[in-house]
Amino acid sequence: MKAQVLHAYDEDLTADTWLTYEDVPDPVISKGSDVIVRVGGAGVCRTDIHVIEGVWRPHMDPQGDSLLPLILGHENAGWVEEVGPNVEGLKKGDPVIVHPKISNGTCVACRRGQDMHGEGSFPGLDSHGGYAEAIVTSERNLIALPKSLQPKEVAPYSDAGLTAYRAAKKATRHLLPGQYAVVIGAGGLGHIAIQVLRAMCAAEIIVVDTNDNSLQLAQECGADHLIKADGGEVDAVLSLTHGHGAEAVLDFVGERGTTHKGLAMTRNAGSYYVVGYGEDIKVPTVDLVISEKNIIGNLVGTWAELYELMELAHRGLVQLETHEYSLKDANFALRALHEGKIKGRAVLVP
Ligand code: ZN
Repeated sequence: MKAQVLHAYDEDLTADTWLTYEDVPDPVISKGSDVIVRVGGAGVCRTDIHVIEGVWRPHMDPQGDSLLPLILGHENAGWVEEVGPNVEGLKKGDPVIVHPKISNGTCVACRRGQDMHGEGSFPGLDSHGGYAEAIVTSERNLIALPKSLQPKEVAPYSDAGLTAYRAAKKATRHLLPGQYAVVIGAGGLGHIAIQVLRAMCAAEIIVVDTNDNSLQLAQECGADHLIKADGGEVDAVLSLTHGHGAEAVLDFVGERGTTHKGLAMTRNAGSYYVVGYGEDIKVPTVDLVISEKNIIGNLVGTWAELYELMELAHRGLVQLETHEYSLKDANFALRALHEGKIKGRAVLVP
């Protein structure tokens, strides 16, 4: 089959192209619970750029380059192509979305539904992913899609959507009418989080972004207030929130100074949700003690949360802005994402 393959890390992102479009062996069923999915769409994610840069290397590839060559792509949806002998609930041709973590299902984290913290692998990060014509996964990872949803239209939900959903859902459990949620970065994840907040709570939604296209998308997604990040965004949020800051700040950037600003926008006893990543958070411990601010990490989400998100999508409460690229054009799509030229989410279609 054809795939887009990473052969070398590029720390400075200065190479002309990062991936090579080439022939690779077809995936094979090796366990009874394995399922081969014919890829209908693979979301293009900033995490792919971070993998290329080597940000994940200490976690996923501590020996050096032992993971390479690697097929990227962790946001996958498609159709069941072949099932292992123990798979009962799925058959060839079923449309499915793929949960990003392959877990064995038997460790305590998995039994609690927290597969992302269980034993296993993240295809596209530590094993071959979906920038290809097919991918091998496990029955436990798959959610059959409602008829209303097409694989290439929903693929980015499996990571971008799921991560945004999980962070926004955590916030909605605390947010009350009269309170505020700030979304920093209304790109691929942020625009989903805005819709989840809209669908699941009544807090006023403030969106901060440097990019006019993203702010326009935020407005279409239901934001109440738009703030152009031009250096005065902390003051603008404080002014909208009567000087206190927001009860929830969801940071989908996590670099270029947003962590400091995001914490400054967070009200005392409020929560700052880290979703985007890249820089270190520096905060005096005494400030955390005095302010009682919470800093909360977010790692994808559970199978059940992906199911919940598909229900929101099926009902039209969350819509994904996608732009389709041919699998051949993966480098082009990654470059466009890197340069901030994609409104919503790019999807590679084989
Ligand atoms: Zn992703």
